[in-house]
Amino acid sequence: MSNQKPETQAIRNQTNRTEQREHSTPLFMTSSFVFDSAEHARALFADEQEGNVYSRYSNPNTDEFASKMCELEGAEAGIATASGMSAIFSSLAGLLEQGDHVLACRSLFGSSHQILNCILPKWGIDFSYGDIDQPEKWESLINDNTRVLFVETPSNPGLDLIDLEWAGKLAEAHDLILIVDNCFATPYLQNPMEYGADLVLHSATKFIDGQGRGIGGVIVGKQRYIEEISFFTRHSGPAMSPFNAWMFSKSLETLPARMDRHCNNALELAEFLEDHPAVDWVKYPHLESHPQYELAKKQMKQGGGVVSFQINGGNKAAMQFLDNLNTLSLSANLGDSRTIATHPASTTHSSLTEEERNAVNITQGMMRIAVGLEAAEDIIADVDQALG
Ligand SMILES: *Cc1c(COP(=O)(O)O)cnc(C)c1O
Repeated sequence: MSNQKPETQAIRNQTNRTEQREHSTPLFMTSSFVFDSAEHARALFADEQEGNVYSRYSNPNTDEFASKMCELEGAEAGIATASGMSAIFSSLAGLLEQGDHVLACRSLFGSSHQILNCILPKWGIDFSYGDIDQPEKWESLINDNTRVLFVETPSNPGLDLIDLEWAGKLAEAHDLILIVDNCFATPYLQNPMEYGADLVLHSATKFIDGQGRGIGGVIVGKQRYIEEISFFTRHSGPAMSPFNAWMFSKSLETLPARMDRHCNNALELAEFLEDHPAVDWVKYPHLESHPQYELAKKQMKQGGGVVSFQINGGNKAAMQFLDNLNTLSLSANLGDSRTIATHPASTTHSSLTEEERNAVNITQGMMRIAVGLEAAEDIIADVDQALG
């Protein structure tokens, strides 16, 4: 691992040049690779020699992308996956066995809830949720079968934070595998491995691509866990396509530059909303009014690209706001160059019960703005006119 700054690592960590001496990494659109000889094939399959065999196992583009992500997160090894959800599912399915138990934070991405609530129980894997505002209770939720501590910080869409240092210590004390969904912060703003995380997961679909073009994910972390999970991914097949890996790896070159701008725009929007009479509350990690502001300053370099707020007037006012927007897009994505407004209660988190939503502050008037790269004044002007 190099000692270079992330801005340099994101650009300079590149796969070896071919004999064409290309400057930019080419796209290796190939499903398999040729063997030099029968003996070479045998040695590759016997793991006696390293090399590419088949793109479900490895490919220069997916390797380049995973290797950059490892460098940025300070991780030993990584696997690129077809989506953020396949990164999450593969990590849990690859590590857990029947009878195991997962302790997770309640404020999780919608589909992560579905995996814990509905999919893993089919194979006898149980779960409990801990609340962010009651960290003292988490210890009592750990039992003899608990193997994984799974957290997301900042959370989507509530922007609640988990204290990573606290989570690292809890996992260590109880011999749990700490898995962190670091999608909202990106490796540029926050590195959970520094606090003792064993695995860090991302949806590459969001800020890593940054331009709303493709679905992808990545798992990075400690070698021994990545090896266990790669047995699962090699044979069950959620591989990232070489094309998407090529695109995401190029996108990483501009991640630091883009994140600086996402974060500046988001902070400006959050400050504007805080003073707006039609807004009940605003949440943004680097806004002083955030209940975990000190923690946000400690573990996140900047506040991230997402702002959430509550419009007064509930569901009706929220729907009106969305329909009034001209420049902002109505979409369920985030981390795009285009600013996106989402109403989580009726879209991304509609499969949760009202009670589950209220427990994580997803009210009918709550709005999530994934702040893009347009001029901040244009974003603010559109939000202002839509608030009426
Ligand atoms: C979007 C998202 C995911 C899922 O990623 P996909 O690429 O859509 O599968 C997981 N976690 C968080 C926090 C997300 O925002």
